[in-house]
Amino acid sequence: MTQKNTRNFAIIAHIDHGKSTLADRIMEQTQTVSDRDSKAQLLDDLQVEQAHGVTVKSRTVRNYYHADDGQEYTYNFIDTPGHVDFTYEVSKSLAASDGALLLVDATQGVQAQTVANLRLARDNHLVVIPVINKIDAAAADVDRTAEQIRALAPEFATVEILKISAKTGLNVHDVLEAIHTRIPAPVGDVKQPLKALVFDSQYDAFKGIIAYVRVVDGKLTTADKLTLMANNQTVAANEIGIFAPQRVATKQLSAGDVGYVVTGLKDPQALRVGDTLTSATTPTATALPGYQPSQSMVFAGFYPQGDHYHDLQLAVEKLALNDTSFHYHAESSDALGAGFRCGFLGIFHLQIIRERLHDEYGLDVLTTAPNVTYRVHLKNEDEPVIVNNPIAFPDYAKIDFVEEPLAEATITTTSESLSDVMKLATQHKGELQDMRNQGDLVVLVYQLPFAEIAYDFFNALKSVSHGYATLTTELSGYDIADVVKIEVHVNYAKVDALSFVVHREDAPKVAQELVHKLKFVIPRKLYPMPVQSVVEGKALARVDVPPLRKNAAANGEKKSTSKKQALLRRQSVNKRQAAHSDIELPQEVFNAVLDLE
Ligand code: GDP
Ligand code: MG
Repeated sequence: MTQKNTRNFAIIAHIDHGKSTLADRIMEQTQTVSDRDSKAQLLDDLQVEQAHGVTVKSRTVRNYYHADDGQEYTYNFIDTPGHVDFTYEVSKSLAASDGALLLVDATQGVQAQTVANLRLARDNHLVVIPVINKIDAAAADVDRTAEQIRALAPEFATVEILKISAKTGLNVHDVLEAIHTRIPAPVGDVKQPLKALVFDSQYDAFKGIIAYVRVVDGKLTTADKLTLMANNQTVAANEIGIFAPQRVATKQLSAGDVGYVVTGLKDPQALRVGDTLTSATTPTATALPGYQPSQSMVFAGFYPQGDHYHDLQLAVEKLALNDTSFHYHAESSDALGAGFRCGFLGIFHLQIIRERLHDEYGLDVLTTAPNVTYRVHLKNEDEPVIVNNPIAFPDYAKIDFVEEPLAEATITTTSESLSDVMKLATQHKGELQDMRNQGDLVVLVYQLPFAEIAYDFFNALKSVSHGYATLTTELSGYDIADVVKIEVHVNYAKVDALSFVVHREDAPKVAQELVHKLKFVIPRKLYPMPVQSVVEGKALARVDVPPLRKNAAANGEKKSTSKKQALLRRQSVNKRQAAHSDIELPQEVFNAVLDLE
């Protein structure tokens, strides 16, 4: 297949506008999968994706299309995730493409992430084909949606907007024709030295690390020795191939092709997405522009349950390879022992990673309360300390001032929910920066502390807007914030893993709520245990966890009197040291911190 008949494209859309459904239809209509195989949502095969009904990882599939002009085309399409936390994945798929189908749901119209994805596509100089989907739905307003699309970008004023139903297959043929007529063929040079963009990667238990590549120039065969340009590392091409949609080995990949390389690497950290693969014998002089590494916005500790530290280590290594926006490093806490501090794009991303650990690795991790990064300026120090773990938050006596990250949040909502949305944003310390109409929708731009949106803001927004509002956020800088660390003391001993940072003005309320929640989730002992929220050395709130009922005879666990007496004696010896080593911390205890509002 020549480059002339190859098209590399992505499908971009707001969540639920029908990307995965269209992807399925395209595979069916190009007979990439037989009808027998085409179970619904063929591509969303990670269990978490099925559970949430969203696409988390981008998928790549090669299709062969017999076009109306009598020629056969190779279509490589990349399904992209739609959720706000996964913009980074979207931009990776776009860098490997030459064009994009911009899908808009006719019952919803243009939404915030339609706009955000379009911006990414234009940043990558892609030809964008606007497509209105769900025209079969009773609530479809095709004309209004077309108007909104035309208003999005000057070039849409004159182009044909396709109108389809990905569900029934209506007019999907027009999409297949538009792909080869409107999206340009790749323009790489087969005779140049090899230059291939690594746009994704995967860990395979048998084959090791598999790089997903778009070959920009040159050719790639299994006979080649390859070099990863970022660290000048030589790798093999043990197997190369395409996605159909499963991996199928081929003899060669050449300029314009999208496929995979089994690198022979075993160390998940050895391959960086965004790197350039070239030939070890005739290397290219210049690497392709890589990606900006993603910035973690939310951090939380992951700790193994039971004796699974090593399993957890392997699992996070592999996940980080597969999802380059997930970061981790080793940490430890007095209360929980050895674990990992992990960085995420947002709270939804954190949830997805937890579920993948459960589904794909059989690991249930203890997760500490998430937090953002603080810049703590100490007295008599020039450089701030970067703190992304509350355990490491410096002693208040040494702190000069603290800066916290700010977000610029763009919320698109309906006029009916406008006042509730604005109230919510104000409650979260949002300052309105801009407000404009876009068709029947209102676009609000707020500046607010990132910590305020890091936890439950998205769900609250969905709830006050009855599911309509959308949110995109960007880090907009740092600003001075009056924040304090809340420590939790159980039986007079600090439990470091339960520490977290809040705005001073919220501290009294949060401190009260916290101890009342903890009262019911901290496992009881034979003796009552005080639980205190401590801020800057002072207890702001206290409750007592009631003791276990002394008479355990009912369930046959009666301890001998001497044992009980020994126990009581031990307890009274030194209350202040008694606690932290033998208090169990089930996940519910951390959830109590997580659920605070
Ligand atoms: P994605 O999040 O963009 O991948 O969206 P999905 O492909 O998962 O689709 C979201 C929902 O919309 C699913 O329930 C689909 O069945 C439904 N859907 C997709 N395309 C159409 C369509 O053309 N018509 C109708 N009525 N529903 C559709
Ligand atoms: Mg999907």
